[in-house]
Amino acid sequence: MRRPAACLFDLDGLLLDTEPLHSAAWQQATRQFGLDLSLDQLLALRGRRRLDCAEQVRLWIADAGLPVPSTPELLAIRQPIAEQLLPSAQPITGAFGLVAACQLQSIPMAMVTSSSRAAVALKEAPHPWLSAIAVRVHGDDPLLGAGKPAPDPYLLAADRLGVQAEQCWAFEDSVAGAQSALAAGCLVHVLLPSGMDHAPEPLKALATACNMIRRLSEVTKVLAANVSIEAF
Ligand SMILES: [Mg+2]
Repeated sequence: MRRPAACLFDLDGLLLDTEPLHSAAWQQATRQFGLDLSLDQLLALRGRRRLDCAEQVRLWIADAGLPVPSTPELLAIRQPIAEQLLPSAQPITGAFGLVAACQLQSIPMAMVTSSSRAAVALKEAPHPWLSAIAVRVHGDDPLLGAGKPAPDPYLLAADRLGVQAEQCWAFEDSVAGAQSALAAGCLVHVLLPSGMDHAPEPLKALATACNMIRRLSEVTKVLAANVSIEAF
């Protein structure tokens, strides 16, 4: 395994521990329309753009035979809940060290997130270390076609860095995100949810195509040592 041309980082659930907060916001908002989302449904929302999530939630509300809110109605309920919760997100263990290792090794970096520019600004305000990742692809990027799981976000990030996506390492925690990075041709490291040694069912299908890791420090050690990774 060669040194990566660049490292492309997802944000939510990979650098910042926002996913439980996003899930709580969707759950609280959806309950106001009479539906309790299952764990599988909440996992399926991870890694996707807010509007794509809203469409999915509206379908589930319709499937449950409940009156379906418009997307603006649903988001108007969710937005203040999310804005209250998200600034309290903590870094994922090892995220700071991994970004620092890339800096030290002069490996170019990009953030490839389904979150909007405004949402990223809200979440990263308490985390100035994230400014080391200067190149960004946001979910509302004007040059972005489809969002994750389509390959577009990772292809756009590689293009902005002037590298081939096939020579990049991508870091993801969600099914939609890992599918996006795989489709772009990246080597994909998938961070398992904390406390899980094995991939949960939705991630299992990707286990053979991706490098499943339990901690970001597993990759940091490799980068710091600048050695080959035969196991991939
Ligand atoms: Mg994620």
